[in-house]
Amino acid sequence: MPNIYGMTLTDLENYFNENNEKPFRAKQVYEWLYQQKNADCLSWSNIKKECREKLMSDFSFNKLTLIKREIDDLTEKYLFELEDKERIEAVLMAHDYGLSVCVSSQVGCNMGCAFCESGRLKKIRNLQAYEIVCQILMIEEITGKKIHSVVIMGIGEPLDNEENVFKFIKIINQDIGLAIGSRHITLSTCGLVPKIKDLYDLKLQINLAISLHAPDDELRNRLMPVNKMYNIDQLMSVLKEYIRVTNRRVTIEYVMLSMVNDTQECALKLAALLQGMNVYVNLIPYNETNHLEFKKSSKARIDLFFDTLKKKGINVTVRKEFGRKISAACGQLRSKEV
Ligand code: SAH
Repeated sequence: MPNIYGMTLTDLENYFNENNEKPFRAKQVYEWLYQQKNADCLSWSNIKKECREKLMSDFSFNKLTLIKREIDDLTEKYLFELEDKERIEAVLMAHDYGLSVCVSSQVGCNMGCAFCESGRLKKIRNLQAYEIVCQILMIEEITGKKIHSVVIMGIGEPLDNEENVFKFIKIINQDIGLAIGSRHITLSTCGLVPKIKDLYDLKLQINLAISLHAPDDELRNRLMPVNKMYNIDQLMSVLKEYIRVTNRRVTIEYVMLSMVNDTQECALKLAALLQGMNVYVNLIPYNETNHLEFKKSSKARIDLFFDTLKKKGINVTVRKEFGRKISAACGQLRSKEV
C-alpha cells in the first residue's frame, strides 16, 4: 500500500481523477497533512465521508518512530526507526537565519569515502520518498517550529537514490505543504556525473554542493573511490555545464584533513582548478572518527588554506561546526547506534 507522505500533489490529483473525485481534493489533503499536521483522515471535515474512508483504505498513513532525541545547544539529533526496524538519523541545526534539517537519503552508503564514518555501514537500502519527507515533518511536529531549509547531507548518497530524492524535493517544496523553497534546499553529492546532468535537465532550482575534498585525481582516488569511476575532469566539465544551464553558483565542499589535503600545494592546485568558475568553497572542519589515520586540520592550517584561496580570488567560507558533543556532526550519524 502506498504511503500518503510519498505522494506528490500531482500524484494525488491523478489519484482523485481516477476515482472520479475533484482534483482539488489533493490540495485539501496536503493542507491537512502538512499544515494542520493531522494524519487522522477520518476527521478531515471538508472531505466527504466515503472519500475519507477510501483514502484510509488506499494509503498507509504511517510515519517514523522516534527512538531518541539528543539536544546539544544549537543542535538536535533525531534517531528514527523505519517500518522494517532499520534506523536513520536527521539533525536539526539553529542558524541565525532559521532552522535547518540535515536529512538522510539511504540506510548506509556505498560510496566508501576513506574518512567518513557513515560509509562504514554499507548501503542496506534506499529510503522511500515518504521516509525522507517524514524526517522533516516529524521534526516540525516535535518542535512545533517551522523548518526554513533542508540539506540532503546525512547518511547516503542522494544521487544513488535519485528517484526518491527528487520526489521528496517536490513534496517538501509544495506551497500548500511544507513550503520549503527550492533555494532553501541543498543536495550534496560525491559526484555521480550522469546524475548531475539529470539534475539540471529536471530544472529543480535547488542548490548543489559537491564533495570534492581533493584537487587532483591521485589524492581524490585515495580518499573517494567514486573518483575512479568519474574523475575530476569529468566532474568539472559537468559542473561547468550545470552552471551554464542553471546560472546557479555551486558549492564545493572540502573537508580539511591534516597533512593530507590541507597543504599549500593543495590550496594552489584547488585555486587553479576552480579559477573562473561560479563556485564557492566551503571548508569543512573534519570531525574525527574511528578512522584514526585522519586528523582534523588545526585552525592555523585552515586559516592559511583559506587565505591562499582568497588571495587567488576564490570565494571561500569555513563551515561552522555543529553537534560534536552528540555525534551529530557530518559523517558520524548512526555509527554509535549500530
Ligand atoms: N554522499 C553525499 C552526502 C552525504 S556526506 C556527499 O558525499 O556529499 C555529507 C558531507 O560530509 C560530505 O561532504 C562528506 O564528505 C562530509 N563528511 C563525511 N565525513 C565527515 C567527517 N567525519 N567530518 C566532516 N565532514 C565529513
